[in-house]
Amino acid sequence: MPRSAASLILARFRSRSTINDSEFLIGDFINQLLSFLIVAAVVFFFVVKPMNSLLERQRRKEATPDPTTGVCTFCKTEVSLEATRCPNCTSENPLGTATA
Ligand SMILES: [Zn+2]
Repeated sequence: MPRSAASLILARFRSRSTINDSEFLIGDFINQLLSFLIVAAVVFFFVVKPMNSLLERQRRKEATPDPTTGVCTFCKTEVSLEATRCPNCTSENPLGTATA
């Protein structure tokens, strides 16, 4: 009876080798390796990737907060938007926004 390629591969998978007096089943090793790769892929695509995209979206939201300060038009220092006078050069209307 001629041996098919599949039976040759199966025979190879069932073969054992000995490393440092330990029996090493090649088929079992390949089975464990494939199981590990499948579990790793599932964890990566269903846990790591969605978590990264969620964190990235959250980071993008935080990156553009509403400004609370502006730049004085006279001395070019940072001034609170609620300030009516510049704390550095004492100019009135440092942001040039108020009309009164
Ligand atoms: Zn100023």
